[in-house]
Amino acid sequence: ETLDKGLEKSKTSFFTKLNKAVAGKSKVDDDVLDNLEEVLVTSDVGVDTTLKVIERIEERVARDKYLGTSELNQILREEIASLLSETNVGEATEFSVPQDKRPFVIMVVGVNGVGKTTTIGKLAYQFKKQGLKVVLGAADTFRAAAIDQLQVWADRVEVPIVKQQMGSDPASVAFDTLQSAVNQDADVVIIDTAGRLHNKVNLMNELTKVKRVMQKVVGEAPHDVLLVLDGSTGQNAFEQAKQFTAATEVTSLAVTKLDGTAKGGVVIGISDQFKVPVKYIGVGEGIEDLQVFNKFEFVDSFFK
Ligand code: GDP
Repeated sequence: ETLDKGLEKSKTSFFTKLNKAVAGKSKVDDDVLDNLEEVLVTSDVGVDTTLKVIERIEERVARDKYLGTSELNQILREEIASLLSETNVGEATEFSVPQDKRPFVIMVVGVNGVGKTTTIGKLAYQFKKQGLKVVLGAADTFRAAAIDQLQVWADRVEVPIVKQQMGSDPASVAFDTLQSAVNQDADVVIIDTAGRLHNKVNLMNELTKVKRVMQKVVGEAPHDVLLVLDGSTGQNAFEQAKQFTAATEVTSLAVTKLDGTAKGGVVIGISDQFKVPVKYIGVGEGIEDLQVFNKFEFVDSFFK
């Protein structure tokens, strides 16, 4: 349904390329494998992951002697699913937070424009729908627009937001938010933070300080550091993942804008390459257009 629609462009592009790659061939041979390698790389699966997939298919060709190109789709689906199942990430099927951590604190990081605010709004909506009490914190104090946008989402989802004026100390906003959440006996806190990558040391210092100050209120906070990446930027998303994981301990990923792009393969590469699980995917601008990433559903939908 939503996932199929969200991946439409990626699928169309992928299968057009795949059909070209096997045109006039009935058997999977070296030429077909070379073409397939190119198809995967240009679909933003990433070079490392592509090579692993090709190697697996080569092994199957060697083992089974004959592989028809008509079976290639099914084989790709199996091999990619098996590759992704080597890590036990991306197996969740619903929005949930651990019951024993209250409030559960999610710190959201990512550069401007990737869909950070939208993802926070959609997440707040999902948690609220499950009857959880959510509080938002506007700790991206660098841009007035960031605070305003988060306020728009807070109004829309009807959840409380803690904010200060632009330019105030992000750590102070985070502290206030957690205190307010504890006072209200909230279940989930989602903190928006600034993501200016141009100055890595500053970013690192700022995030470290925000974390340290939050821990004065909730000892283990943040329970989750969620990095938001724009899937439509393909290799840039890989690059940002590298940089943010170097600046702070990222514990999960959200990949957005998969609906508008043919680069959906990026999710396969990112979930294979980073030790960090992709937890959510954005497949549209609407409030419902966020999904829990389940690698099996994703592969099924992609190779259908
Ligand atoms: P931020 O600067 O990272 O907070 O980005 P925003 O949340 O303001 O989003 C930037 C733009 O991307 C907005 O126009 C959003 O509607 C759009 N956007 C966010 N997520 C998605 C998505 O999954 N799909 C699509 N098509 N657009 C998205």
